Amino acid sequence: MSKLLYIVEDEADILELVLMKLEAAGFSTKGFERAEPMLQSLKVSAVDLIILDVMLPGMDGMEVCQKLKSDPATENIPVIMLTARTDIEDKVKGLEYGADDYITKPFDAKELVARVKAVLRRSSWESSKNVLSITPDFVIDFNRYEVLINGKRADITLTEFKILQLLTKRPSWVYNRSQMLDYLWGTDKVVIERTIDVHIRNLREKLGEFAIMIQNIRGVGYRFSVGGEE
Ligand code: CA
Repeated sequence: MSKLLYIVEDEADILELVLMKLEAAGFSTKGFERAEPMLQSLKVSAVDLIILDVMLPGMDGMEVCQKLKSDPATENIPVIMLTARTDIEDKVKGLEYGADDYITKPFDAKELVARVKAVLRRSSWESSKNVLSITPDFVIDFNRYEVLINGKRADITLTEFKILQLLTKRPSWVYNRSQMLDYLWGTDKVVIERTIDVHIRNLREKLGEFAIMIQNIRGVGYRFSVGGEE
């Protein structure tokens, strides 16, 4: 059975082109010029992926994405955002709202099809639940004890991995150093709290552009935050 994709795009010619290319690639599609009827339609059909334009009349793409990702009934449907803007702020906001990928307009139809396939593959892979895809370029595999940054395995130690495991368990939750020590070494080992800071520093270095997601809350401890806000 072919996968069903919903596409929301108010520019009729772009919508038509996207529908045509996706159909040609073997997908079933349904197009919408506004988000509201798409949301209505979601209640009655099982959709595999949604392509959402950011700039829409009525409810905009960001709002729609946030709504989809905050509803347990729709949170697992992958969302690819179409944006005319290359604004980093939009990207950060979209990721915070849970978008799975981005395509900036104007885009090549082949690229769009490739991204759709990649996101669908990843979403079925993720359904194992032991793989956490924070963004498409920052993936934690709890089975293999691997962290993938831009598709490459980061060379992290077991302690660094466990820190990441603890922090990502509850995003935005602030852990103090003694809680972290307990988690890592248990209460029977004597390790000074500053040891945590050393491990965090090393871990951050290995996370590259995603280092900002591990935040130091002064006087308290550390937290993991996808938005990277202060
Ligand atoms: Ca638009």
